[in-house]
Amino acid sequence: MRTTFITMLLLVITISLSAINIEIRGKAEKYSVAETEIDGISYVSIQDLSPILKCINKQERLDQRLYLHIYGETFIFLEGSSYYSYKIESYNMHFPLKRRAANYYLPKVLLTEHLPLHFEREAEYKRGTLSIKQPVDHSVQVIVLDPGHGGKDPGAVGKALKVKEKDVNLAVALKLKTLLEKELGVQVLMTRTDDRFVSLGDRTRFANEHKANLFISIHANASKNSSPKGTETYYLATAMTSDARAVEALENQVVELYEGGASARSKYDGLDFILSDLSQTEHLQSSNELASSVQQNLIAGCKAYDRGVKQANFYVLKGAFMPSILIELGFLSNQEEERMLINEDYQQRLARTIFEGLKRFKYRYDRIRNT
Ligand SMILES: [Zn+2]
Repeated sequence: MRTTFITMLLLVITISLSAINIEIRGKAEKYSVAETEIDGISYVSIQDLSPILKCINKQERLDQRLYLHIYGETFIFLEGSSYYSYKIESYNMHFPLKRRAANYYLPKVLLTEHLPLHFEREAEYKRGTLSIKQPVDHSVQVIVLDPGHGGKDPGAVGKALKVKEKDVNLAVALKLKTLLEKELGVQVLMTRTDDRFVSLGDRTRFANEHKANLFISIHANASKNSSPKGTETYYLATAMTSDARAVEALENQVVELYEGGASARSKYDGLDFILSDLSQTEHLQSSNELASSVQQNLIAGCKAYDRGVKQANFYVLKGAFMPSILIELGFLSNQEEERMLINEDYQQRLARTIFEGLKRFKYRYDRIRNT
């Protein structure tokens, strides 16, 4: 048993050989991608290739498929198979797609022979160097997380344990930040990383200035009544239902309470914001899809009561020049949910499920935008 294991281990041990050079036409930068020998054949890792070719890869571990999107085209590989599908035709690489731990490896011939064949104008391989046309990358790279409230503005306050919304929002956002950076490799910026007050306008301005691709505002709900419960996700639009209007009023009241009263409110309702509201319509469909993706994952993963995807007119989403959503994690006015929202394991689960929703959205969105 043990010797078999060691033999197998020896078989899969990979040795780094030489490297393939990749140069981007008209650009000074050159890359060197290490070749890895697996079963005597030269392979390259997807992890190394993706950032250079700006190819989006989606790995379906359950059916052992790897999808690669390069120059707007889709390649589908199957683990253990030397065949792949491209434009409804099958091609043979003569060596199979391999997986080592969490990473897929493609035989080197894909770069030296197949890419130049499929992309005559974009790719050429000569004397150890793959020369490629600069790939365009519109994928999601910067995400702004916006933990609602903070500082003098506690947000909603729980009835039983007096849990403050601002603390729950920040805790979940920080956990989500770690997941996004570690597992999705995106840059995450936060409108606040500690207990401080940030005005609503400054939150979106921050996202615009950093050219964020997504804006995610995290909140917890409250109601006068202790029975309402559940999770809901909003995107910006005119509030459609009276419930949505109530949440809208609650989240927007920070403007009157903490940002200088009615005059500040009229500032947010003014022309600037109407114009920027128009800029958000461009992202309406994407925001809706983003909200659905996050909400579905939240409900499936947290077993929370599903209050659905809703539209409302949140000041904090106005003026954001990117797909933007506002998540209400649960109700602090509900005793049971208040207890859960302060629980660290539950916060981690919330972060994990929001992460899964963002990941799924990013894959779809990147593919559409890079095609
Ligand atoms: Zn809030």
